[in-house]
Amino acid sequence: MNFLMALIALLAGLAIGKAWERYKLRGGKWIDRRRARESPHYILGLNFLVANQIDLAIEELSRAASLDSDALEVHMILGNLYREKGQVGKAITVHQSLLQRSSLSRLEHAYVLLCLGLDYKRGGFVDRALEAFNEVLRLDPKNEYALINLQKLHEEQHAWTDAYDTRQRLTKLAATDSQPQSQAILAFLENEIGLEAVRRKDYHEATRRFQAAIDLDPRAVPAYLNLGDVRMAQENEKGAAAIWDTLVQVAPDRAYLAFDRIEKLAVLSGNPERFTRLCQRLIGDNPQDWRARLALSRHLAASGRPQEALDLLFAALVQNPHALGIHQAIWRALGQLRHPASLVDRYGELTEHAVFYLDPHVCMRCRYRSTELLWQCPHCHDWNTFVEERIAPAQDATEVEV
Ligand SMILES: [Zn+2]
Repeated sequence: MNFLMALIALLAGLAIGKAWERYKLRGGKWIDRRRARESPHYILGLNFLVANQIDLAIEELSRAASLDSDALEVHMILGNLYREKGQVGKAITVHQSLLQRSSLSRLEHAYVLLCLGLDYKRGGFVDRALEAFNEVLRLDPKNEYALINLQKLHEEQHAWTDAYDTRQRLTKLAATDSQPQSQAILAFLENEIGLEAVRRKDYHEATRRFQAAIDLDPRAVPAYLNLGDVRMAQENEKGAAAIWDTLVQVAPDRAYLAFDRIEKLAVLSGNPERFTRLCQRLIGDNPQDWRARLALSRHLAASGRPQEALDLLFAALVQNPHALGIHQAIWRALGQLRHPASLVDRYGELTEHAVFYLDPHVCMRCRYRSTELLWQCPHCHDWNTFVEERIAPAQDATEVEV
């Protein structure tokens, strides 16, 4: 519930803010500004909000707001609730009218603008949203919500350099314990800037960017892949092999992403054994590595060794019975061997209880599912949140060890 956190921060900010005075002179007499907030409607509204009953929250908070038309935060929350419900026009109207108030302090002004920026963003009014967030930052340069939303907007526009600059401002504000995560995001953004340079065929700049990404985060996997591609484009095969080797060393769990490249390069340089040895080493280091088994089996099947390929595939199947790719490879290998009955039976035994599915990757943050590993979630737009999901825990490999 990001939205709730933002809301609580907004409330805290307003309560602490010196600008919030309890009493105010209106029409010649002092009135208690806490009136709206002390009404039962306000408390009820907040409770409905926490229970995620948005309609009831709106109802109660509207009543609280009608008790005191000055109660800034109640109106602000109401506007935010309209936005959450998708009533963006209504949200914009509420927040815009709050901005017309002459009595707003600098901080209050910034908060209302932030809400308005979120309305624009939700409504797809990108330019106006950018303008609003930038104005918030002019009033309140350390406003992290404005910076985060600005970064996401730039990312959506593929304005990677702007996104990078915004993230850098955030990194400087971030607590030291969240620095590594921030560095990793900067590395992904460097990688995107590098890819733009690749599209322009500016290999010098691309190399610089990919290298910078790796320096920021040694586990910036796509930067290794892309740096190797640039070196291949520059006909530097040795250099490409070296950077992909480094990737396998620093992130063996993601090594499979480089398998196709490494295999192609090994075959190209007349040394296909290099690829075989790499897969065998990975399997030796981690017996659960079904992807290395699958890759090696494809390599062996392609070089006319279907029986060995099949042994590897059966072992991989025990590790991960849900991966469709393994089943497809098994059927190809069985076809090459002309479907010997004993091996077909073995396959039947191994798959008796298997469940198939096509999208084993899931975003840890929002549960979005994907058939492949994605670096940025298309749903929540967070970076590097995908993990491979398995329905059942992998069995012990020892019985079918290859
Ligand atoms: Zn997500």
